Amino acid sequence: MKIFVADPIAEKTIEALKNEGHEVVVETELTSEEVGERLQGFDVVIIRSKTKLRRDILEKTSGLKVIIRAGVGLDNVDRVAAKEMGIAVRNTPAASARAVAELVMAHMFSLARKIAYADRTMREGKWEKKKLKGFELGGKTLGIIGVGNIGLTVAKMARGIGMDVLGFDVVDANKPKLEELGGKFLTDMDELIKNSDFITLHVPLNEHTKGFINKDRIYSMKKGACLINTARGGLIDEEALYERLKNGELGGAAFDVFAEEPPKDLKLLELDNFEASPHIGAQTKEAQDRIGDEILKILKE
Ligand code: NAD
Repeated sequence: MKIFVADPIAEKTIEALKNEGHEVVVETELTSEEVGERLQGFDVVIIRSKTKLRRDILEKTSGLKVIIRAGVGLDNVDRVAAKEMGIAVRNTPAASARAVAELVMAHMFSLARKIAYADRTMREGKWEKKKLKGFELGGKTLGIIGVGNIGLTVAKMARGIGMDVLGFDVVDANKPKLEELGGKFLTDMDELIKNSDFITLHVPLNEHTKGFINKDRIYSMKKGACLINTARGGLIDEEALYERLKNGELGGAAFDVFAEEPPKDLKLLELDNFEASPHIGAQTKEAQDRIGDEILKILKE
């Protein structure tokens, strides 16, 4: 098959694809429009989150059979248009769950002990010990919105360090697994928001979730609570979050994902109690290797 790789994937995967006899072209610096134009005659395109395969871009292609999203979120692919054009859309659902869950834990520890701020100020020659009174995660309540692959993995890790876990999902398929871990599955997201010391988001971005952590919900978070978003930008009312963080009502927030990547003029970055990572949730060697294995499996089907 002729495979076009439009976003960076593990070198090992590219080698394995070639060893399987596929013809592989790797061009990862193109805009989405340029990718659309380059795809003539290719059977498969492999993307991550950078390339946006909108309807107008898919319409530029001909003969494309499969879009493989190396990762989970499919918000950058127009699946309706792809279906109409007979193009299959696949992702690698379980490969990055552990990597993202570990990043959530890292941000939780960092927010609780203000590690990002401590490091920043030490580099400026300051010794801010008095300002750096943190709190422990053990015994605190973590609210997980979206109890899918990642949400459940976070629940397992959080229970391992002695946190209480609440989960909310529109589907209750993982309710028994969450309960087996000692977590509580709620059917009301607002109850979760009001009762959590940490809230972490693990839902897809779609018309139901866009902006769903709205001003009212931000204002119903407990005083001192923290919010972590490693799911997708655009889920949260950032202005309301900024206000509550700035006046010290919330403990902190951490984002790995942004409405625009890289973000331009993100006001939240002015705040000491906000920390950020540049969409690195799935960026571990192990997750990228697992994603590669899943891609090879899909192509063998
Ligand atoms: P998943 O499909 O296993 O789980 C998503 C869960 O969200 C499902 O259980 C679904 O029922 C639930 N859900 C959907 N709409 C909801 C709503 N309105 N309210 C509550 N729950 C809702 O997916 P996953 O593997 O756990 O990934 C979750 C998200 O994480 C992905 O959609 C992707 O955007 C993001 N992600 C980010 C990174 C990163 O690098 N930061 C990496 C992988 C995935």
